[in-house]
Amino acid sequence: MSEITKFTNLRNLEGEELSITVENGYFSDSASAVQKIEDCTGMTLIPGLVDMHTHLREPGFEDAETILTGSMAAAAGGFTAVSAMPNTDPIADTAGVVEQIFRLGQVHGICDVFPIGAITVGSKGEQLAEIRAMNASAAGIRIFSDDGNCLSSAILMRRALEYVKSFDGVIAQHAQDPELTVDSQVNEGAISSRLGLKGWPAVAEEAIIARDVLLADHVKSRLHICHVSTAGSVEIIRWAKARGIQVTAEVTPHHLLLTEDLIESYDPVFKVNPPLRTKRDVEALRFALADGTIDVIATDHAPHPIERKECEWANAAFGMLGLESALSVSFKAMVDTKLISPKDLIYRMSSRPAEIAGYKDHGAIANGKPANFALVNLEKNWVSKPRMSKSGNDPYRGMTLPVVVEATYLRGRKVYSHHE
Ligand SMILES: [Zn+2]
Repeated sequence: MSEITKFTNLRNLEGEELSITVENGYFSDSASAVQKIEDCTGMTLIPGLVDMHTHLREPGFEDAETILTGSMAAAAGGFTAVSAMPNTDPIADTAGVVEQIFRLGQVHGICDVFPIGAITVGSKGEQLAEIRAMNASAAGIRIFSDDGNCLSSAILMRRALEYVKSFDGVIAQHAQDPELTVDSQVNEGAISSRLGLKGWPAVAEEAIIARDVLLADHVKSRLHICHVSTAGSVEIIRWAKARGIQVTAEVTPHHLLLTEDLIESYDPVFKVNPPLRTKRDVEALRFALADGTIDVIATDHAPHPIERKECEWANAAFGMLGLESALSVSFKAMVDTKLISPKDLIYRMSSRPAEIAGYKDHGAIANGKPANFALVNLEKNWVSKPRMSKSGNDPYRGMTLPVVVEATYLRGRKVYSHHE
């Protein structure tokens, strides 16, 4: 017997009233008898968000996060799909490891977890990992990255781009020239000199992006740039797109909202890779997202246990939580500033990443599609505090943020419900 629920008194992102019907986990226009009615007064319907860049830490670093707690944090943030970066222990560089991560995500059933495979063995940048076997596995990997490390070898980048081309895969680069950033701690500039912390020059990111878009052009393959953080990177990507090079790019919520001034507190909660940059960079990133030069927002959710963050700056780990706050922080940076409409922002957090990553069951509300969606309240505020993540490194803690995720549904099943 089918199970049919009607969600009434909803609004879409343009403010129009609507109702939706979910039948056996799918959006439906079925006229058969509705068994349950959910009154959604005050709520806005959005497709489930899709994250192209998440660190779930399992296997190996379960003291920071697990696939279960990360899935719960994702659902609390309105996400129905996340891409798990491979810098676990072991590194996700074989079909066996990526299948294990994929299956654990399915078993928990709270958020679809799509592993990203490592490009090189152990993400060491020395020899290519078994890219084809990971693609052919049950996890069907199409995105490969050595994130955490930059793939700095030009010849390996060329080969990797050639490999993934045959199955329309994509190489996601963490652009950070290693020689230009040895021991780097914060953005290179006046503040790094004043604080006596080793600087991280913008050119370390930009030089790698420039090289890689040229390689992607040469090979005619797909390149994705992780966490773009500088105005100069935006210019290079804009140039590459104008030339027809197959490059896509992401920006994190924190690089859209926070600036390097925050590091004057010496609070390692603001220590992140790439580092927080200048106001001018933040403005360039916001405009680039608004005009489509940057395709998507991705969280780079990077949980760390307390002892890795509550220590001296130089010893602290890089990274911030992101899943639970991404929607709100992005609204604050992009919609409250009138740079983008709510509809366009959600496109860059759901449909567009689903399209780049090839997650066909996500990013769309249409009859016959799996009912992956969230209900949000655009009028309400909340005070940021991580509730689901196992870690507490939230740079927005205590900040009042717009938009409350009220509920998240994965294949028609409620996987998160907001409680005050
Ligand atoms: Zn990275």
